[in-house]
Amino acid sequence: MTATTDHTTEHSTGATFFDQTTWDGRFYADGWRQGTEVADIVSPSTGATLGRYATASPDDLDRAVERAVEAQRTWARTPAQERAAVLRRAGLLLEQHQSLLAEWLASEAGSALGKAGFEAGLVAAEFHQAAATAMMPYGQLLQTDRPRLSMARRRPVGVVGVISPFNFPAILSARSIAPALALGNAVVHKPDPRTTVSGGLFFAAVLEEAGLPAGLFSVLPGGADVGAALVDHPQVPVLSFTGSTAAGRAIGRRAGELLKRAHLELGGNNALVVLDDVDVAAAASAGAWGSFLHQGQICMTTGRHLVHERVHDAYVAALAEKARNLPAGDPASGAPLGPIIDSGQLSKVDALVQATVAAGARLEAGGTHDGLFYAATVLSGVRPEHPAFREEVFGPVAPVVPFSDLDELTDLVNSSEYGLSLGILTGDAYRGFELAERFESGIVHVNDQTVDDEAHAPFGGTGASGTGSRFGGHEANIEAFTETQWITVQGSIARYPF
Ligand code: NAD
Repeated sequence: MTATTDHTTEHSTGATFFDQTTWDGRFYADGWRQGTEVADIVSPSTGATLGRYATASPDDLDRAVERAVEAQRTWARTPAQERAAVLRRAGLLLEQHQSLLAEWLASEAGSALGKAGFEAGLVAAEFHQAAATAMMPYGQLLQTDRPRLSMARRRPVGVVGVISPFNFPAILSARSIAPALALGNAVVHKPDPRTTVSGGLFFAAVLEEAGLPAGLFSVLPGGADVGAALVDHPQVPVLSFTGSTAAGRAIGRRAGELLKRAHLELGGNNALVVLDDVDVAAAASAGAWGSFLHQGQICMTTGRHLVHERVHDAYVAALAEKARNLPAGDPASGAPLGPIIDSGQLSKVDALVQATVAAGARLEAGGTHDGLFYAATVLSGVRPEHPAFREEVFGPVAPVVPFSDLDELTDLVNSSEYGLSLGILTGDAYRGFELAERFESGIVHVNDQTVDDEAHAPFGGTGASGTGSRFGGHEANIEAFTETQWITVQGSIARYPF
């Protein structure tokens, strides 16, 4: 590990906005605070220390929630137009400082420059979308049997606990933080410890600058223990968790015991279906993007390529050729593939690849690594029982499986416990649209690969991928971050039989 790198001077734009001396070694709760324990922020590409963050203690959590409860009462009564204005200003600030956030995503999360720029741009859209959500109708006028007004209205839930992962740290935090705040809630946020800045502290600076009243938003860095304490906190009634299926199940169990609502966006093992009428070169380009973007560390990564036997060999050859030509290296140097986030994740990826080869699959490209840089890997001859087919790999690995008819294809797609995203590539788009009916998947793209997200589209999966379409768009966000209240109003008190 090298000496601390000061991003104030290293980053090219917006340095005065996110001045490292303000936040270094701190967490954020009602302002920047010193913590009892401090940890390094380390670049997975270079091993350089980029800064430090303070880990939040149970007392820090209690104080942050207490302040959030207090601040939320006033915020819920603040006119929607004013709440929307804060979110809009935050969106504009994120646009203004997009390159700074992208630089953090590249250095802290190991994102290639294209992915980092895309993510930083989409984050601004999440805030603009949330500003619009604040101004949406928030209830319904109901029919009633009596002379009265009867309404179902939506109210903020209070304090929302947000827990996010390392891979798309900015989007997967923003997509809950922004709408929850817009709808009149306070938010206590715990980012992944490996992406504390791009998944958390950066938003504290943005929202502070945008004029969000004090106490409404806090960032409490730390590991699973801090996350579990947030889940347990009696004054946090709604949880928004994005991460692994194993952690999601544990949080779901605990939320059930505590009778809390938990929105769970979990893992995926997404299929890309390649039909026999496809343009093979275009299909291989889409397939490579789906499997190798951000080193395959995306819940929507294409984890299974299901290819019609007539085009299978040509597709494997084209995909392997693409993989062999994708260099991995420091994103700052423009490499299309960055590092795997840490050695633990890298060992899991490699173990799944080696076990699949040992079980009989052929290594068409990759299967090697240099430090944390794992080569883009293509496996052919993969069978449904092989580990790389059954499990979420979360690395730059493309297992390819041939199929001969649509029933076999349907069984292959639906054999996965996950159901997040699916791509269907075909020369006949309507055929793809009709076929989509057969598959268990929360998201389907015809003539595209599996990785996509828009701030206004409903995002979510079925089965082991989580609890459904909970993020994106006004309806999903209002459903996720408000409670329904049935309220009736009549002009005078009715007389009852006794
Ligand atoms: P992870 O579940 O280990 O960690 C995610 C976050 O949860 C981190 O902040 C972590 O500190 C916290 N955490 C872990 N255990 C916890 C617990 N018991 N209680 C409270 N908090 C806890 O996830 P990971 O392996 O680092 O991330 C990758 C996973 O996330 C993959 O499975 C991926 O598919 C999934 N993911 C899903 C989506 C989606 O939208 N469906 C998006 C991105 C990533």
